[in-house]
Amino acid sequence: MATAVNPDLLPKLEKFGVKDASICFNCGNCTAVCSLSSEKIPFPRKVIRYLQLGAKEKLMQSPEPWMCYYCGDCTTTCPRQANPGEVMMGLRRYLTTLYDWTGISRRFYTSKVFEVVAILVIAALVGLGFYRYHGPVLTDRVALNVFAPNRVIEILDLVMLVVLSFFLLTNAFRMFLKVMGDPAQYPSLSLTARQQFQNRLIRGIPLAIWVSEAKAFLVHFFTQKQFGACGTREQRTQWLIHLLIMTGYTSIFLLVVVGIRWFQRDEIYALWNPIRLVGYYATFAILYGTTYAIIGRLKKERPVYAHTHSSDWVFLIMLWLTTFSGILIHFTRILEMPLATYFIYVIHLMIAVPMLVIEVPFAKWTHQLYRPLIQYLVRVRERALEGTS
Ligand code: SF4
Ligand code: SF4
Repeated sequence: MATAVNPDLLPKLEKFGVKDASICFNCGNCTAVCSLSSEKIPFPRKVIRYLQLGAKEKLMQSPEPWMCYYCGDCTTTCPRQANPGEVMMGLRRYLTTLYDWTGISRRFYTSKVFEVVAILVIAALVGLGFYRYHGPVLTDRVALNVFAPNRVIEILDLVMLVVLSFFLLTNAFRMFLKVMGDPAQYPSLSLTARQQFQNRLIRGIPLAIWVSEAKAFLVHFFTQKQFGACGTREQRTQWLIHLLIMTGYTSIFLLVVVGIRWFQRDEIYALWNPIRLVGYYATFAILYGTTYAIIGRLKKERPVYAHTHSSDWVFLIMLWLTTFSGILIHFTRILEMPLATYFIYVIHLMIAVPMLVIEVPFAKWTHQLYRPLIQYLVRVRERALEGTS
């Protein structure tokens, strides 16, 4: 079926960081140089073409934007300076807003005012909550669990986890429906094969395939190994930075959301205690990774850091500040400074909570789930398609 051209789409994507796609003349050089592009899933030329045509539905069904790890090779070699790597990045932002049914993600990505106001409102609510409901302020010793009992924080954490998971997973489910719902666009199948595949989708792909391919999800989630396939030393460094931020973020998320009763204690753990070691790893990993990325984005020397959307700054700065304030709490506790500890603890949560509430289901963090999910879905779909063509 022919696709109607919609010239209005491309200008709308400027707010997501897609600025140069119109000058692409579809030479295919970018697809040829991309180490992650394959015969079955070729990119980025194909999705740039969809963009030029304004084929919004095709874009929503495409796994390709999530297969790109933004190494920058295509941008460096594009003869038209169409910046395909940044186009893919902008597309991921745009798709995140399309999968989000609440509309919050769109507001966040397209309005700096909304972005800032949302953060300030959530931060203010956290601050007011502490002002109104904090526990006794003991000054003869650091008693954080009297000021903010970990059993109360644990309940609030779990409520937050359920709510954020609900939004994130429902958005991911919408992605799943789009990507799995159109056998026509990937790969090319005969009409009969399309019908067969459609039938299999309607009846459901066998559970055995979902289960046997689940390891693809776990491997891609924890290692981001596709990034490692981008060949140069500089690109492998980029992978390491990405991995540090992701593993640090995940470790500290688990510690503070699931393991708060062990993490937030008034006694100082021995240096070799596993909880303390995981905390140190997460702190080092996030601080190193975010500082590296912030400096890179300020210098703008590499294609991957040359263009920074306001949402990238929000993510990096809030993550850096959360980590830094966490370090300050650690030192004020060790130095036995009760008032400073309580004060910085409140500031720390006034940064961390808005970051989690906005980033996890609606903004940059979503790619941590969407990327491995897409890798998984592509594998499942390939298996389901076997024998249908
Ligand atoms: S983005 Fe550049 S390299 Fe890719 S098809 Fe367009 S003009 Fe060619
Ligand atoms: S940025 Fe790298 S991974 Fe992404 S499309 Fe370009 S060459 Fe491929």
